[in-house]
Amino acid sequence: MGRILKGEKPADHPMSKALIIGGSVGGLFAANMLRSIGWEATVFERNAEELTGRGAGISTHPQLRDVTRRLGIPFDDSMGIHIDTVVFLDHDGRCYDRRATVRLMSSWGRVFRSLRDRMPAGSYHLGKSLLRVEQDAGSVTAIFADGTHEHGDLLIGADGGRSTVRELFLPGQQPDYAGCVAWRAMLDERDVPPAIHEELFAHFTYCLPPGELFLAYPVPGRNNETQVGQRAYNIVWYRPTTPAQLADFCTDANGKQHGTSIPPPLLRPAIIAWSKAQARALVAPQAAEIFERDPRPFFQGIFDFISPQIVFGRVALLGDAAFLARPHPGAGTTKCAIDAECLADSIASLDLDAGLAKYQRLQGAFGTGLVRQGQRDGSYLTDQHKPREQRRNKDMSWDVDDLMGDHDGRSMQVKRILDESRRV
Ligand SMILES: Cc1cc2nc3c(=O)[nH]c(=O)nc-3n(C[C@H](O)[C@H](O)[C@H](O)COP(=O)(O)OP(=O)(O)OC[C@H]3O[C@@H](n4cnc5c(N)ncnc54)[C@H](O)[C@@H]3O)c2cc1C
Repeated sequence: MGRILKGEKPADHPMSKALIIGGSVGGLFAANMLRSIGWEATVFERNAEELTGRGAGISTHPQLRDVTRRLGIPFDDSMGIHIDTVVFLDHDGRCYDRRATVRLMSSWGRVFRSLRDRMPAGSYHLGKSLLRVEQDAGSVTAIFADGTHEHGDLLIGADGGRSTVRELFLPGQQPDYAGCVAWRAMLDERDVPPAIHEELFAHFTYCLPPGELFLAYPVPGRNNETQVGQRAYNIVWYRPTTPAQLADFCTDANGKQHGTSIPPPLLRPAIIAWSKAQARALVAPQAAEIFERDPRPFFQGIFDFISPQIVFGRVALLGDAAFLARPHPGAGTTKCAIDAECLADSIASLDLDAGLAKYQRLQGAFGTGLVRQGQRDGSYLTDQHKPREQRRNKDMSWDVDDLMGDHDGRSMQVKRILDESRRV
């Protein structure tokens, strides 16, 4: 690869230029972080319309806060909802355990907006679907489906778990389905019935139907509001689901099969009705009522992927494109931030190819560690597909102490995986 030495700029343009494929949180952390070290960074997003989060809630960790603040974005009370209590509800809706906790629950949309708003006009392009990448010793070129192309010094594939960029360099290597889906629902705070609001809204709620995991917690509202009355309540319900069931869920009303995911508006009404009936049958009535009141719950399949390589000449993978971890550690967005920071710091302090090699070494170890942690955390769910005699005792029922240990230990877990990756 042609070398861009530290501090040296190519003769024909004054700033080094990054082409970033994918305009979600990974692409935006990369763009903002590269801009902070003096690079020109332009984002190319496949969707023709501005991305929206559909309210999906996310956990936060200190590393997410630190990288966000480093970019000059305040990480204050407007970033999410503070939670100090966890409640466990049984099938009949009785609270059988209550513990103290410290969590800040944000939303994809809140993090996205804070990063997107910092991108200068003309540096974020919608409707740009990457088809191919070409590179030589001096530059890399992105070729888009609309027939246009762009040249740069570095191309970052931040195009998610089904990354086109990854497929170009690691053809045929696809994420593995973990045998479980996450149903998601959200209700605006004002639509939560008053009695349920009083009982649950402020808390992180667990319901533990056999073999499943149901979580609910408050998040910023649809337009990122954190004021009382304008927030939302978010549900994530992990359910073991066979590949055949998943294929059925991903078949629309016209019989078209969409693979392993389906755009939420195409989800068949019968599947939505079934999911609500399942909630009524399996989780505490007050939690089921919130799920049922969302007109459009949707689901996301859970996948694992470890990339054997995340740097290919002038091309680097980042975020879910590089490593797809099950969401139990709640660190996908935090990983995007850490990937972006590591990439920027590595190429700022070394020449480009040495910087990218360092990025691959450090984030390769971190990403692998996070995927392995997600597999351990999710084994209870996926092991439900095994015959009973092959399951470990631990996989027969949830232990509340174990669950609380994981719940409260998440940020320490992320820190441990990060620290270990820095010793590689
Ligand atoms: C159920 C569930 C719960 C989760 N909970 C949490 C949590 O609590 N905390 C947390 O931090 N994370 C959580 N995550 C993970 C988090 O949402 C992801 O890790 C994060 O969104 C990854 O961001 P990304 O930018 O790498 O990829 P994505 O968000 O997938 O974005 C990829 C982007 O690339 C675009 N794109 C794709 N192909 C092309 C192409 N060819 N050309 C141009 N653009 C393209 C796509 O349109 C998309 O906008 C959860 C995930 C799931 C499924």
